Amino acid sequence: MNSFIQKDLKHIWHPYTQMKDCEKLPPILVEKAKGIKIYDNNGNFYYDTISSWWCNVHGHNHPFIKAAIKKQLDRFEHVLFAGFTHKPAIDLAQKLVEITPQKLQRVFFSDNGSTAVEVAMKMSFQYWKNINKPERNYFVSLDKAYHGDTIGVMSVSGVDLFNSKFKPLFFKSFKAPSPYCYRCPFGEDKDSCALECLKKMENILKAQGKRVCAVVIEPLVMCAAGMLVYPEKYLKGVAGLAQKYGVHLILDEVATGFGRTGKMFALEHVGITPDFICLSKGITSGYLPLGATLTTDKVFSAFYDDYDKLKTFYHGHTFTANPISCVAAGASIELFSKEDSFAKIKDINNQLNLFLDKIRDLPMVGDIRSKGVIGAMELVADKKTKEPFGLNKRVGMEVYRAGLKNGLILRPLGNVVYFFLPICVRSGELNDIFKRAEKVMKKLADDLF
Ligand code: PMP
Repeated sequence: MNSFIQKDLKHIWHPYTQMKDCEKLPPILVEKAKGIKIYDNNGNFYYDTISSWWCNVHGHNHPFIKAAIKKQLDRFEHVLFAGFTHKPAIDLAQKLVEITPQKLQRVFFSDNGSTAVEVAMKMSFQYWKNINKPERNYFVSLDKAYHGDTIGVMSVSGVDLFNSKFKPLFFKSFKAPSPYCYRCPFGEDKDSCALECLKKMENILKAQGKRVCAVVIEPLVMCAAGMLVYPEKYLKGVAGLAQKYGVHLILDEVATGFGRTGKMFALEHVGITPDFICLSKGITSGYLPLGATLTTDKVFSAFYDDYDKLKTFYHGHTFTANPISCVAAGASIELFSKEDSFAKIKDINNQLNLFLDKIRDLPMVGDIRSKGVIGAMELVADKKTKEPFGLNKRVGMEVYRAGLKNGLILRPLGNVVYFFLPICVRSGELNDIFKRAEKVMKKLADDLF
Protein backbone atom coordinates (compact mmCIF):
# COMPACT_ATOMS: atom_id res chain seq x y z
CA MET A 1 0.00 0.00 0.00
CA ASN A 2 1.22 3.49 -0.89
CA SER A 3 2.85 5.18 2.14
CA PHE A 4 0.56 8.21 1.91
CA ILE A 5 -2.47 5.95 2.04
CA GLN A 6 -0.99 4.19 5.04
CA LYS A 7 -0.63 7.55 6.79
CA ASP A 8 -4.14 8.52 5.72
CA LEU A 9 -5.59 5.39 7.26
CA LYS A 10 -3.56 5.92 10.40
CA HIS A 11 -4.80 9.44 11.10
CA ILE A 12 -7.79 10.43 9.00
CA TRP A 13 -11.46 9.72 9.64
CA HIS A 14 -13.30 10.17 6.33
CA PRO A 15 -16.87 11.48 6.08
CA TYR A 16 -19.80 9.14 5.43
CA THR A 17 -17.38 6.21 5.47
CA GLN A 18 -17.31 2.97 7.41
CA MET A 19 -13.56 3.13 7.90
CA LYS A 20 -13.35 -0.66 8.10
CA ASP A 21 -14.34 -0.76 4.42
CA CYS A 22 -11.05 1.01 3.68
CA GLU A 23 -9.19 -2.20 4.56
CA LYS A 24 -10.54 -3.64 1.30
CA LEU A 25 -11.09 -0.45 -0.61
CA PRO A 26 -8.64 2.23 0.52
CA PRO A 27 -9.16 5.84 -0.56
CA ILE A 28 -7.74 6.90 -3.91
CA LEU A 29 -4.82 9.30 -3.79
CA VAL A 30 -5.63 12.23 -6.07
CA GLU A 31 -2.74 13.92 -7.88
CA LYS A 32 -4.56 16.28 -10.20
CA ALA A 33 -7.93 17.02 -11.76
CA LYS A 34 -9.01 18.70 -14.96
CA GLY A 35 -12.49 19.16 -16.40
CA ILE A 36 -14.54 16.10 -15.42
CA LYS A 37 -11.48 13.91 -14.82
CA ILE A 38 -9.74 13.16 -11.54
CA TYR A 39 -6.29 11.53 -11.83
CA ASP A 40 -4.71 9.31 -9.19
CA ASN A 41 -1.05 8.81 -8.28
CA ASN A 42 -0.77 5.89 -10.70
CA GLY A 43 -1.94 7.91 -13.68
CA ASN A 44 -5.44 6.37 -13.75
CA PHE A 45 -8.34 8.72 -14.27
CA TYR A 46 -11.89 8.65 -12.95
CA TYR A 47 -14.80 10.52 -14.46
CA ASP A 48 -16.20 12.74 -11.71
CA THR A 49 -19.74 11.73 -12.60
CA ILE A 50 -21.17 13.02 -9.32
CA SER A 51 -19.43 16.42 -9.43
CA SER A 52 -17.42 15.70 -6.27
CA TRP A 53 -20.50 15.44 -4.07
CA TRP A 54 -22.61 17.68 -6.29
CA CYS A 55 -20.52 20.81 -5.93
CA ASN A 56 -18.34 21.00 -9.03
CA VAL A 57 -20.22 22.90 -11.73
CA HIS A 58 -17.81 24.02 -14.46
CA GLY A 59 -15.17 21.31 -14.12
CA HIS A 60 -11.95 21.01 -12.16
CA ASN A 61 -9.05 23.36 -12.66
CA HIS A 62 -10.95 25.91 -14.75
CA PRO A 63 -8.57 28.72 -15.78
CA PHE A 64 -11.18 31.48 -15.33
CA ILE A 65 -12.06 30.55 -11.74
CA LYS A 66 -8.43 29.86 -10.89
CA ALA A 67 -7.36 33.28 -12.17
CA ALA A 68 -9.97 35.01 -9.99
CA ILE A 69 -8.77 33.07 -6.94
CA LYS A 70 -5.10 33.84 -7.59
CA LYS A 71 -5.80 37.53 -8.06
CA GLN A 72 -7.67 37.74 -4.76
CA LEU A 73 -4.98 35.76 -2.97
CA ASP A 74 -2.47 38.49 -3.82
CA ARG A 75 -4.75 41.08 -2.22
CA PHE A 76 -5.80 39.42 1.04
CA GLU A 77 -7.02 36.00 2.11
CA HIS A 78 -9.57 36.47 4.87
CA VAL A 79 -10.80 39.12 7.28
CA LEU A 80 -13.49 39.27 9.92
CA PHE A 81 -16.89 40.15 8.50
CA ALA A 82 -18.40 42.12 11.40
CA GLY A 83 -17.43 45.77 11.30
CA PHE A 84 -15.50 45.11 8.08
CA THR A 85 -16.52 44.29 4.54
CA HIS A 86 -14.87 43.77 1.15
CA LYS A 87 -15.57 44.08 -2.55
CA PRO A 88 -15.68 40.33 -3.27
CA ALA A 89 -18.61 39.92 -0.85
CA ILE A 90 -20.36 43.09 -2.02
CA ASP A 91 -20.06 42.11 -5.69
CA LEU A 92 -21.26 38.60 -5.00
CA ALA A 93 -24.21 39.73 -2.89
CA GLN A 94 -25.29 41.98 -5.73
CA LYS A 95 -24.94 39.16 -8.27
CA LEU A 96 -26.95 36.76 -6.09
CA VAL A 97 -29.72 39.30 -5.61
CA GLU A 98 -29.81 39.84 -9.38
CA ILE A 99 -30.16 36.15 -10.27
CA THR A 100 -32.72 35.19 -7.60
CA PRO A 101 -36.38 36.33 -7.34
CA GLN A 102 -36.80 40.05 -6.91
CA LYS A 103 -38.24 39.80 -3.40
CA LEU A 104 -34.97 38.37 -2.08
CA GLN A 105 -32.80 41.38 -1.37
CA ARG A 106 -30.64 40.40 1.62
CA VAL A 107 -27.71 38.01 1.68
CA PHE A 108 -26.34 36.40 4.83
CA PHE A 109 -23.10 34.52 4.18
CA SER A 110 -21.89 31.39 5.95
CA ASP A 111 -19.60 28.57 4.89
CA ASN A 112 -21.49 25.36 4.00
CA GLY A 113 -24.87 23.96 3.08
CA SER A 114 -25.96 22.89 6.56
CA THR A 115 -25.29 26.36 7.92
CA ALA A 116 -27.06 28.01 4.98
CA VAL A 117 -30.22 26.09 5.95
CA GLU A 118 -29.69 26.45 9.69
CA VAL A 119 -29.36 30.22 9.26
CA ALA A 120 -32.67 30.36 7.38
CA MET A 121 -34.37 28.34 10.12
CA LYS A 122 -32.96 30.49 12.90
CA MET A 123 -33.85 33.68 11.06
CA SER A 124 -37.40 32.49 10.50
CA PHE A 125 -37.72 31.40 14.13
CA GLN A 126 -36.42 34.71 15.45
CA TYR A 127 -38.49 36.69 12.95
CA TRP A 128 -41.67 35.46 14.61
CA LYS A 129 -40.25 36.28 18.05
CA ASN A 130 -39.22 39.76 16.89
CA ILE A 131 -42.74 40.49 15.66
CA ASN A 132 -44.35 39.20 18.84
CA LYS A 133 -45.54 35.81 17.72
CA PRO A 134 -43.67 33.67 20.25
CA GLU A 135 -46.00 30.70 19.76
CA ARG A 136 -44.45 29.86 16.39
CA ASN A 137 -41.84 27.30 17.34
CA TYR A 138 -42.15 24.51 14.78
CA PHE A 139 -41.09 23.65 11.27
CA VAL A 140 -42.78 21.50 8.66
CA SER A 141 -40.57 19.38 6.43
CA LEU A 142 -40.67 16.18 4.39
CA ASP A 143 -40.20 12.78 5.96
CA LYS A 144 -37.38 11.81 3.60
CA ALA A 145 -35.72 15.21 3.39
CA TYR A 146 -32.03 15.88 3.80
CA HIS A 147 -30.84 19.35 4.78
CA GLY A 148 -27.42 18.66 6.25
CA ASP A 149 -25.61 17.18 9.20
CA THR A 150 -25.90 19.63 12.08
CA ILE A 151 -28.44 18.78 14.78
CA GLY A 152 -30.71 21.67 13.80
CA VAL A 153 -31.10 20.74 10.16
CA MET A 154 -31.17 17.04 10.99
CA SER A 155 -34.30 17.78 13.02
CA VAL A 156 -36.06 18.69 9.77
CA SER A 157 -34.48 15.87 7.81
CA GLY A 158 -35.61 12.28 7.56
CA VAL A 159 -33.05 10.01 5.93
CA ASP A 160 -33.23 7.32 8.61
CA LEU A 161 -29.91 5.70 7.80
CA PHE A 162 -28.13 8.95 8.65
CA ASN A 163 -30.41 10.33 11.33
CA SER A 164 -32.22 7.71 13.37
CA LYS A 165 -29.47 7.32 16.02
CA PHE A 166 -29.59 11.02 16.81
CA LYS A 167 -33.37 11.29 17.17
CA PRO A 168 -33.30 11.96 20.94
CA LEU A 169 -31.35 15.15 20.23
CA PHE A 170 -33.74 16.59 17.66
CA PHE A 171 -36.32 19.28 18.28
CA LYS A 172 -39.86 18.43 17.30
CA SER A 173 -40.92 19.16 13.75
CA PHE A 174 -43.94 18.15 11.71
CA LYS A 175 -43.21 15.75 8.88
CA ALA A 176 -45.30 15.53 5.73
CA PRO A 177 -45.04 12.52 3.41
CA SER A 178 -42.45 12.98 0.67
CA PRO A 179 -43.54 13.07 -2.97
CA TYR A 180 -41.70 9.80 -3.66
CA CYS A 181 -43.66 8.96 -6.78
CA TYR A 182 -42.10 5.55 -7.52
CA ARG A 183 -43.16 4.35 -4.07
CA CYS A 184 -46.21 6.56 -3.67
CA PRO A 185 -47.70 5.66 -0.27
CA PHE A 186 -51.14 6.47 -1.69
CA GLY A 187 -50.73 4.17 -4.69
CA GLU A 188 -51.17 7.00 -7.15
CA ASP A 189 -49.62 7.54 -10.56
CA LYS A 190 -47.19 10.45 -10.98
CA ASP A 191 -48.77 12.01 -14.05
CA SER A 192 -52.41 11.78 -13.07
CA CYS A 193 -52.28 11.93 -9.28
CA ALA A 194 -54.42 14.19 -7.13
CA LEU A 195 -51.45 15.11 -4.90
CA GLU A 196 -52.59 13.18 -1.87
CA CYS A 197 -49.20 13.95 -0.26
CA LEU A 198 -49.88 17.66 -0.59
CA LYS A 199 -53.22 17.20 1.14
CA LYS A 200 -51.36 15.64 4.07
CA MET A 201 -49.17 18.71 4.28
CA GLU A 202 -52.24 20.91 4.19
CA ASN A 203 -53.76 18.92 7.05
CA ILE A 204 -50.68 19.64 9.14
CA LEU A 205 -50.79 23.33 8.34
CA LYS A 206 -54.52 23.50 8.95
CA ALA A 207 -54.12 22.00 12.40
CA GLN A 208 -50.77 23.50 13.40
CA GLY A 209 -50.21 26.49 11.08
CA LYS A 210 -50.36 29.07 13.87
CA ARG A 211 -47.50 27.29 15.65
CA VAL A 212 -45.34 26.95 12.54
CA CYS A 213 -42.42 29.17 11.53
CA ALA A 214 -41.72 27.75 8.09
CA VAL A 215 -41.97 24.93 5.63
CA VAL A 216 -38.50 23.70 4.63
CA ILE A 217 -38.14 21.88 1.34
CA GLU A 218 -35.70 20.95 -1.44
CA PRO A 219 -37.27 22.18 -4.67
CA LEU A 220 -38.02 19.56 -7.36
CA VAL A 221 -35.31 17.03 -6.49
CA MET A 222 -34.86 15.49 -3.06
CA CYS A 223 -31.24 14.67 -3.65
CA ALA A 224 -29.87 12.66 -0.71
CA ALA A 225 -33.20 10.82 -0.41
CA GLY A 226 -32.23 9.14 -3.69
CA MET A 227 -32.54 11.84 -6.35
CA LEU A 228 -36.33 11.83 -6.02
CA VAL A 229 -37.52 14.02 -8.87
CA TYR A 230 -41.02 15.14 -8.00
CA PRO A 231 -43.73 16.94 -9.99
CA GLU A 232 -43.64 20.72 -10.36
CA LYS A 233 -47.31 20.87 -9.33
CA TYR A 234 -46.29 19.60 -5.88
CA LEU A 235 -43.73 22.38 -5.36
CA LYS A 236 -46.20 24.97 -6.59
CA GLY A 237 -48.74 23.50 -4.19
CA VAL A 238 -46.37 23.74 -1.23
CA ALA A 239 -45.60 27.38 -2.05
CA GLY A 240 -49.35 28.05 -2.22
CA LEU A 241 -49.92 26.37 1.15
CA ALA A 242 -47.14 28.38 2.82
CA GLN A 243 -48.82 31.53 1.59
CA LYS A 244 -52.33 30.39 2.50
CA TYR A 245 -51.36 29.53 6.07
CA GLY A 246 -49.04 32.51 6.54
CA VAL A 247 -45.82 30.59 7.21
CA HIS A 248 -42.40 31.13 5.67
CA LEU A 249 -41.17 29.06 2.76
CA ILE A 250 -37.52 28.03 3.01
CA LEU A 251 -36.15 26.56 -0.22
CA ASP A 252 -33.00 24.53 0.23
CA GLU A 253 -31.27 24.93 -3.13
CA VAL A 254 -27.92 23.80 -1.74
CA ALA A 255 -27.83 20.88 -4.18
CA THR A 256 -30.30 22.01 -6.88
CA GLY A 257 -28.93 25.55 -7.26
CA PHE A 258 -26.57 26.74 -9.97
CA GLY A 259 -27.91 25.04 -13.04
CA ARG A 260 -28.36 21.47 -11.87
CA THR A 261 -32.02 21.16 -12.82
CA GLY A 262 -31.71 23.05 -16.12
CA LYS A 263 -32.39 26.51 -14.70
CA MET A 264 -30.14 28.58 -12.49
CA PHE A 265 -32.41 27.68 -9.55
CA ALA A 266 -35.03 24.94 -9.38
CA LEU A 267 -37.65 27.44 -8.18
CA GLU A 268 -37.58 29.01 -11.67
CA HIS A 269 -39.35 25.96 -13.12
CA VAL A 270 -42.48 26.95 -11.23
CA GLY A 271 -41.99 30.69 -10.82
CA ILE A 272 -42.34 30.81 -7.04
CA THR A 273 -40.75 33.22 -4.60
CA PRO A 274 -39.73 31.84 -1.22
CA ASP A 275 -38.99 33.83 1.93
CA PHE A 276 -35.57 32.22 2.14
CA ILE A 277 -33.31 30.48 -0.34
CA CYS A 278 -30.30 28.51 0.90
CA LEU A 279 -27.23 28.16 -1.30
CA SER A 280 -23.87 26.44 -1.08
CA LYS A 281 -22.05 23.60 -2.95
CA GLY A 282 -22.16 24.84 -6.58
CA ILE A 283 -22.07 28.49 -5.54
CA THR A 284 -18.26 28.50 -5.94
CA SER A 285 -18.39 25.76 -8.59
CA GLY A 286 -17.11 23.60 -5.76
CA TYR A 287 -13.74 25.33 -5.55
CA LEU A 288 -14.03 26.68 -2.00
CA PRO A 289 -16.50 26.48 0.89
CA LEU A 290 -19.24 29.10 0.97
CA GLY A 291 -22.85 29.28 2.06
CA ALA A 292 -25.44 31.99 1.48
CA THR A 293 -28.95 32.50 2.80
CA LEU A 294 -31.05 35.05 0.94
CA THR A 295 -34.16 36.60 2.42
CA THR A 296 -36.60 39.45 1.98
CA ASP A 297 -36.57 43.04 3.19
CA LYS A 298 -39.67 42.14 5.20
CA VAL A 299 -37.72 39.58 7.24
CA PHE A 300 -34.67 41.82 7.48
CA SER A 301 -36.64 44.78 8.75
CA ALA A 302 -38.03 42.72 11.67
CA PHE A 303 -34.44 42.56 12.98
CA TYR A 304 -33.56 46.19 12.24
CA ASP A 305 -33.99 48.24 15.38
CA ASP A 306 -32.19 49.99 18.24
CA TYR A 307 -29.66 47.71 19.87
CA ASP A 308 -31.45 47.60 23.22
CA LYS A 309 -34.58 46.16 21.58
CA LEU A 310 -32.61 42.88 21.42
CA LYS A 311 -33.60 42.02 17.88
CA THR A 312 -30.07 41.38 16.60
CA PHE A 313 -29.41 38.13 14.76
CA TYR A 314 -26.65 36.61 16.88
CA HIS A 315 -25.22 34.18 14.43
CA GLY A 316 -21.96 34.15 12.46
CA HIS A 317 -19.15 31.88 11.43
CA THR A 318 -15.44 32.67 11.48
CA PHE A 319 -15.14 32.21 7.75
CA THR A 320 -18.28 34.19 6.86
CA ALA A 321 -17.98 35.56 3.32
CA ASN A 322 -14.43 34.40 2.82
CA PRO A 323 -13.19 36.72 0.04
CA ILE A 324 -11.43 34.00 -1.96
CA SER A 325 -14.63 31.94 -1.91
CA CYS A 326 -16.61 35.02 -2.95
CA VAL A 327 -14.47 35.73 -6.02
CA ALA A 328 -14.61 32.04 -7.02
CA ALA A 329 -18.41 32.30 -6.78
CA GLY A 330 -18.47 35.49 -8.84
CA ALA A 331 -16.34 33.87 -11.55
CA SER A 332 -18.48 30.73 -11.54
CA ILE A 333 -21.69 32.73 -12.01
CA GLU A 334 -20.09 34.64 -14.91
CA LEU A 335 -19.19 31.38 -16.61
CA PHE A 336 -22.85 30.44 -17.04
CA SER A 337 -23.28 33.07 -19.75
CA LYS A 338 -19.68 32.99 -21.01
CA GLU A 339 -19.90 29.26 -21.72
CA ASP A 340 -23.56 29.02 -22.71
CA SER A 341 -24.08 26.59 -19.85
CA PHE A 342 -27.84 26.21 -20.09
CA ALA A 343 -27.67 24.99 -23.69
CA LYS A 344 -25.06 22.47 -22.56
CA ILE A 345 -27.26 21.26 -19.71
CA LYS A 346 -30.03 20.58 -22.23
CA ASP A 347 -27.68 18.44 -24.33
CA ILE A 348 -26.46 16.60 -21.24
CA ASN A 349 -30.05 15.88 -20.20
CA ASN A 350 -30.90 14.52 -23.67
CA GLN A 351 -27.94 12.14 -23.63
CA LEU A 352 -28.67 11.19 -20.02
CA ASN A 353 -32.25 10.26 -20.90
CA LEU A 354 -31.14 8.14 -23.85
CA PHE A 355 -28.83 6.22 -21.53
CA LEU A 356 -31.47 5.76 -18.83
CA ASP A 357 -33.95 4.53 -21.43
CA LYS A 358 -31.42 2.03 -22.66
CA ILE A 359 -30.89 0.42 -19.28
CA ARG A 360 -34.41 0.67 -17.87
CA ASP A 361 -35.20 -2.91 -18.95
CA LEU A 362 -32.40 -4.46 -16.90
CA PRO A 363 -33.92 -6.75 -14.28
CA MET A 364 -32.74 -4.71 -11.27
CA VAL A 365 -33.64 -1.24 -12.57
CA GLY A 366 -36.90 -0.41 -10.81
CA ASP A 367 -37.17 3.27 -11.62
CA ILE A 368 -35.31 5.87 -13.63
CA ARG A 369 -35.61 9.61 -13.10
CA SER A 370 -33.84 12.67 -14.40
CA LYS A 371 -33.79 16.44 -14.29
CA GLY A 372 -31.09 18.64 -15.84
CA VAL A 373 -27.68 17.10 -15.16
CA ILE A 374 -29.13 14.71 -12.59
CA GLY A 375 -30.08 11.17 -13.58
CA ALA A 376 -30.80 8.22 -11.30
CA MET A 377 -31.63 4.52 -11.34
CA GLU A 378 -33.28 2.93 -8.34
CA LEU A 379 -32.18 -0.68 -8.08
CA VAL A 380 -34.61 -3.28 -6.74
CA ALA A 381 -34.48 -6.99 -5.93
CA ASP A 382 -37.86 -7.53 -7.57
CA LYS A 383 -39.10 -5.26 -10.31
CA LYS A 384 -42.74 -6.32 -9.97
CA THR A 385 -43.07 -5.93 -6.23
CA LYS A 386 -40.47 -3.10 -6.03
CA GLU A 387 -38.86 -4.98 -3.16
CA PRO A 388 -35.63 -3.19 -2.32
CA PHE A 389 -32.28 -4.91 -1.90
CA GLY A 390 -31.46 -5.44 1.77
CA LEU A 391 -28.85 -3.18 3.33
CA ASN A 392 -26.51 -6.10 3.93
CA LYS A 393 -26.54 -7.05 0.25
CA ARG A 394 -24.60 -3.83 -0.39
CA VAL A 395 -25.51 -3.66 -4.03
CA GLY A 396 -24.59 0.03 -4.06
CA MET A 397 -21.09 -0.83 -2.88
CA GLU A 398 -20.78 -3.40 -5.67
CA VAL A 399 -21.69 -0.75 -8.22
CA TYR A 400 -19.24 1.70 -6.65
CA ARG A 401 -16.42 -0.82 -6.78
CA ALA A 402 -17.18 -1.85 -10.36
CA GLY A 403 -17.54 1.81 -11.33
CA LEU A 404 -14.06 2.62 -10.06
CA LYS A 405 -12.61 -0.30 -11.99
CA ASN A 406 -14.16 1.24 -15.08
CA GLY A 407 -13.04 4.80 -14.38
CA LEU A 408 -16.37 6.04 -13.03
CA ILE A 409 -17.32 7.50 -9.65
CA LEU A 410 -20.72 5.87 -9.17
CA ARG A 411 -21.00 6.51 -5.45
CA PRO A 412 -24.59 5.45 -4.76
CA LEU A 413 -27.19 6.63 -2.27
CA GLY A 414 -28.30 3.33 -0.78
CA ASN A 415 -29.73 1.43 -3.75
CA VAL A 416 -29.87 4.47 -5.99
CA VAL A 417 -27.10 4.83 -8.56
CA TYR A 418 -26.97 8.28 -10.04
CA PHE A 419 -25.19 10.83 -12.17
CA PHE A 420 -24.81 14.43 -11.07
CA LEU A 421 -22.73 15.72 -13.93
CA PRO A 422 -20.61 18.84 -14.14
CA ILE A 423 -21.60 21.08 -17.05
CA CYS A 424 -18.11 20.95 -18.52
CA VAL A 425 -18.59 17.33 -19.65
CA ARG A 426 -18.18 17.03 -23.42
CA SER A 427 -20.38 14.95 -25.66
CA GLY A 428 -17.60 12.44 -26.43
CA GLU A 429 -16.88 12.08 -22.73
CA LEU A 430 -20.54 11.47 -22.03
CA ASN A 431 -20.67 8.71 -24.65
CA ASP A 432 -17.66 7.12 -23.02
CA ILE A 433 -19.15 7.49 -19.53
CA PHE A 434 -22.44 5.88 -20.53
CA LYS A 435 -20.69 3.06 -22.39
CA ARG A 436 -18.72 2.28 -19.24
CA ALA A 437 -21.80 2.61 -17.04
CA GLU A 438 -23.77 0.27 -19.28
CA LYS A 439 -21.01 -2.31 -18.94
CA VAL A 440 -21.10 -1.98 -15.13
CA MET A 441 -24.89 -2.27 -14.97
CA LYS A 442 -25.09 -5.24 -17.37
CA LYS A 443 -22.42 -7.10 -15.42
CA LEU A 444 -24.33 -6.40 -12.21
CA ALA A 445 -27.52 -7.78 -13.79
CA ASP A 446 -25.63 -10.94 -14.84
CA ASP A 447 -24.20 -11.37 -11.34
CA LEU A 448 -27.50 -10.80 -9.56
CA PHE A 449 -30.02 -12.64 -11.73
N1 PMP B 1 -28.98 20.64 1.82
C1 PMP B 1 -28.94 19.79 0.78
C2 PMP B 1 -30.12 19.70 -0.11
C3 PMP B 1 -27.82 19.00 0.57
O1 PMP B 1 -27.81 18.13 -0.45
C4 PMP B 1 -26.71 19.12 1.44
C5 PMP B 1 -25.45 18.31 1.26
N2 PMP B 1 -25.51 17.15 0.57
C6 PMP B 1 -26.79 20.04 2.48
C7 PMP B 1 -27.94 20.78 2.65
C8 PMP B 1 -25.67 20.19 3.45
O2 PMP B 1 -24.57 20.79 2.85
P1 PMP B 1 -23.12 20.64 3.50
O3 PMP B 1 -22.70 19.23 3.29
O4 PMP B 1 -22.29 21.62 2.74
O5 PMP B 1 -23.26 21.00 4.94
